Amino acid sequence: MKNSAVKTLAFRPEERNIFFHILTGCNLACRHCYINREQHGSEMVSREKMVEWLKLFYEPAKESNVIFLGGEPTMHPDLAFAVKKARELGYSSVTVDTNGYLFHNLLERISPDDAVLSFSLDGPDAEINDQIRGAGVFATCTANLKKAAALGFTTSLIYTVSRMNLEQLHRMPGLLAELGVNRFFIQVIGLRGKSAEDPENLQLTPEEWLRTVPPVAAQAAALGIPTIYPKVFLDKNEKFECAGRAAENFFIFPNGRVYRCPLCEDHPIHSLEIKDDELKKRAGLHEECFFELEIPEGCVMNRLLQAGNIPYGPDGAPLHRISCCLLKQGVGLEP
Ligand code: SF4
Ligand code: SF4
Repeated sequence: MKNSAVKTLAFRPEERNIFFHILTGCNLACRHCYINREQHGSEMVSREKMVEWLKLFYEPAKESNVIFLGGEPTMHPDLAFAVKKARELGYSSVTVDTNGYLFHNLLERISPDDAVLSFSLDGPDAEINDQIRGAGVFATCTANLKKAAALGFTTSLIYTVSRMNLEQLHRMPGLLAELGVNRFFIQVIGLRGKSAEDPENLQLTPEEWLRTVPPVAAQAAALGIPTIYPKVFLDKNEKFECAGRAAENFFIFPNGRVYRCPLCEDHPIHSLEIKDDELKKRAGLHEECFFELEIPEGCVMNRLLQAGNIPYGPDGAPLHRISCCLLKQGVGLEP
């Protein structure tokens, strides 16, 4: 029987997640690209540094997971080496987040036991997807996804929901089943990079999100595809928690900046930096100062970056508390 219960995935203190941007370059130019080269540079992390930095963040006492990101991480000629190195060092899971181009023959250089492959697609057909991600992307991404699934790789698919593709989301579960995708991640459009430039035309209202996303997630779960999506709005009695305080996530960039909160990435307020292959805490005002603040709206960074999106009642209290952007819920998951 399919598990149709929606479960909030609480932060797990025994887990450490490393989001490792090994380069910021990309072969695509998506309309909502979240990469900010002004802040994070345009270099690639060298093969040697990748090993040193993987060692630096590996915590044997915890379940350490690494997600290789870019830009497009498969453009890095040493990605296959880094995946295998992470495994050798003891990382519990390795994921590669790709736009689907799988450069440098990745499928031939790693095995299904080495890594999960997570593909990004923003529409159920070429017409919708390619107007966001570029001409020809749908065909390439779906062909490579099928190839990976046929080789036995565990695959997932990330769909970033915005005003540009919200109404097409319901067509995704059928496509995922056809492609043999193992897990579906629905992502909310961020406030970073290009998407921060045009928030009105991209960001969803709470009503649009609640009306559309949970029912589609349930639809995918009913087809046997576990689906994970951000919580976004906390229920009345739910406790607010900031991942910066309650979890161990590290967002690493090629220029050595390390953030604990992805919403801070467009600003030079990272709390940590790697210098001479050592992780150092920065002095002065940085993201951690915000993690401590308690406000009725929930997430402080969300309040600072998009105050206009929080509706207030006649008594001046916010109608919704916004959860940490890293808090997820899932449906169709193993009990
Ligand atoms: S969103 Fe990802 S795939 Fe698209 S341009 Fe940016 S880095 Fe490349
Ligand atoms: S998104 Fe908000 S709640 Fe989550 S880590 Fe950042 S500041 Fe904290």
